[in-house]
Amino acid sequence: MYHGSHPGWIEVIAGVMFSGKSEELIRRVRRAIIARRKVQVFKSHLDSRYTGLYTVSSHDGKELEAAPIDSAAEIFRQARPTTELVAIDEAQFLDPEIVTVASALAARGVRVILAGTDTDFRGEPFGAMGALLAIAESVDKLQAICVVCGDLATRNQRLVDGRPARYESPTILVGGRESYEARCRHCHRVPRKDEDQTALL
Ligand code: ADP
Ligand code: ZN
Repeated sequence: MYHGSHPGWIEVIAGVMFSGKSEELIRRVRRAIIARRKVQVFKSHLDSRYTGLYTVSSHDGKELEAAPIDSAAEIFRQARPTTELVAIDEAQFLDPEIVTVASALAARGVRVILAGTDTDFRGEPFGAMGALLAIAESVDKLQAICVVCGDLATRNQRLVDGRPARYESPTILVGGRESYEARCRHCHRVPRKDEDQTALL
């Protein structure tokens, strides 16, 4: 947590799916509400987990109202001058302008909290998350539990029909048949086109 005397800074909550990013975002927002701060929560349109587009929901069922947005500029337009905390979930789906928007909000005294998956299904940096990690005052990187071996999970395993998705498949799939598992580095599988079929196991 940042303890400067001027308000206005950036916090990033990063990590794989199921690592508790939404839970942590909701916890911070709830505490700010208890402190009577003026809060606005945004969430990328692309994610519609469980309860539709208008809530931030964690895997344990906790919920918070969120305004759906599909660009960084929209966050900037919708942020009211009196708002003290802007929380953004699923930040990995946003365009690179989110870096400028988060910085501009922080410069005018807003506490900005961004939660997002920092690596894609390949284990590579996702969207603007790398840049956001770099410009943030505070970064928390969370881990889930690997569903294969029980170690700490640091990778998103994409499965299509129960099999690891290939490296070449697109970064963002909306409404597809794919599913995701949290896995550790060693249990994570990303077969490439030129690899032997046994890599799919
Ligand atoms: P994120 O926003 O990072 O996807 P959430 O906050 O939505 O994570 O969900 C975290 C919750 O997911 C945990 O508290 C736990 O109850 C549940 N969960 C389901 N699968 C796993 C897993 N493999 N590892 C850890 N937690 C998991
Ligand atoms: Zn593992």
